Amino acid sequence: MEETMSSHDADGLQRWERLLDKLPVAAYTCDPDGLIIYFNEHALRLWGRAPKLRDVSERFCGSFRLFATDGTPIGHDECWMALALRHRKEYLGSEVIVQQPEGARRAVLAHANPVFDDDGKLLGAINILVDITDHKRSDEALKEADRRKDEFLAVLSHELRNPLAPLRNGLQVLRRAGGNAAIIEQTREMMDRQLGHMIRLIDDLLDLNRITRNRLELRKQTIQLSDVIQSAMEAARPAIDDTAQQLTVSVPAEPIHLYGDLTRLAQVLCNLLTNSAKYTPPGGIIALRADLRGSEVALTVKDNGIGIPPADLPRIFEMFSKVHRTMEQTGSGLGIGLALVRGLVEMHAGTVQAQSDGPGKGSVFTVRLPVVSSAGTAMPQPAATDSASSLKSAVRRRILVVDDSWDAANSLAMLLELGGNEVRTAYDGVEAIEAAESFRPDVILMDVGMPKLNGLDAARRIRNLPWSDKVLLIALTGWGQDENRRRSRAAGFDYHLTKPVNPQELEALLGSPRPLPVQG
Ligand code: ADP
Repeated sequence: MEETMSSHDADGLQRWERLLDKLPVAAYTCDPDGLIIYFNEHALRLWGRAPKLRDVSERFCGSFRLFATDGTPIGHDECWMALALRHRKEYLGSEVIVQQPEGARRAVLAHANPVFDDDGKLLGAINILVDITDHKRSDEALKEADRRKDEFLAVLSHELRNPLAPLRNGLQVLRRAGGNAAIIEQTREMMDRQLGHMIRLIDDLLDLNRITRNRLELRKQTIQLSDVIQSAMEAARPAIDDTAQQLTVSVPAEPIHLYGDLTRLAQVLCNLLTNSAKYTPPGGIIALRADLRGSEVALTVKDNGIGIPPADLPRIFEMFSKVHRTMEQTGSGLGIGLALVRGLVEMHAGTVQAQSDGPGKGSVFTVRLPVVSSAGTAMPQPAATDSASSLKSAVRRRILVVDDSWDAANSLAMLLELGGNEVRTAYDGVEAIEAAESFRPDVILMDVGMPKLNGLDAARRIRNLPWSDKVLLIALTGWGQDENRRRSRAAGFDYHLTKPVNPQELEALLGSPRPLPVQG
């Protein structure tokens, strides 16, 4: 039955329309026949074009294509507007997909209401559409981040377990080896290597964390590119040799100077080289090149390995991104090496890019760094470490080791004693002060987080003792952030080392005189 609207009826809907104009969501109205008689600005934006008013071809919801969330098309007679008019009741917000003329799809929550006059006669209906596309995107981004976090934790536990298994086996072997010096030496080397893997893993994680929070400090000075390359090659050599890769290196004959942190730049190149070794089948070829181009040097690491699908190239430098997911392809790794590379390169005002012609076609990574024109004045070097030393001191020192972990304290004490030092141990801050008073050590190696009295307070009290001027106080802790370093310096420590301590670094410090206290 055809119904025509009286001017009174039209007023009824128009009053609504004035309100709908102001709504921050899409809204439109239909007459009782489903002909569109009004839509607001937001509806126009949502649809992407204006439907024809009072036109049969655009009944109920325009000629826009609608879909359920699973992609099934929704007939126009079945849209919320049509249902609200047909059944004269409200249809509330489930999710619908609206396709715009050029094909873009928007997700909306639709909410259709019939409108009646005072006598209960149907005047038409209002449909309010809330565009939730952006919400859904951020929701999906959150879900993706959550999925990546779960995957990261799984990979992390796997990666930490990897070195733990041989370490535990090694301990058993040492227990049963009797006096077999060859087995003991072989096991010791293996344990050292595995421990190294574990420390590198944790260091990488901490570095990345510092970079993302802008807390990584670089020790920049004028350095030679050849030193960076040599150091990177030394570090990457075992990985390359293990897989019988062939490494070719081509660098310009003239010296190239950079202003940067040698260790960190070597870490960048080393990460790229070990990745190439990891993602190239045995016997592959890895080529490292340096080319001077104007005011910058381009360092390329090229391999003929498994390559990277083009679609994955843009996200390869993101944290925790692993492209090759099958166990055979992934090898080991947390998916943070390249994120670290990018962070460190950008901190040197450089760029890094990845190229690959696709799976099986090898990969090329290019790092571009600014060069400095002359060698400039080199900054003072940190105290040199003697790589041949193994805590075997020429001088016998009196050392107090303080740690609430008995195993940590006792094993370090044992090591220092084997190095010819006289060592005492204490297991909390209070004991540390008592032991320091009676033992009068030359050096105190002290943990920071301890019961009864923490290392910082113990250090402060020890520094207040009249004889403590010459004592070398070294903090030995799991906390290595800049803030932790500042606090331990303020408490009177001369140095701050993170656990596990590198024996060479410790030996170098033990042999050094107490540095002058920093002012302020
Ligand atoms: P991972 O610890 O997984 O090696 P990275 O951040 O170093 O993490 O690398 C991220 C991902 O990029 C790797 O998982 C791998 O899929 C891919 N990739 C990195 N380098 C190469 C390469 N030389 N050849 C092929 N794929 C690579």
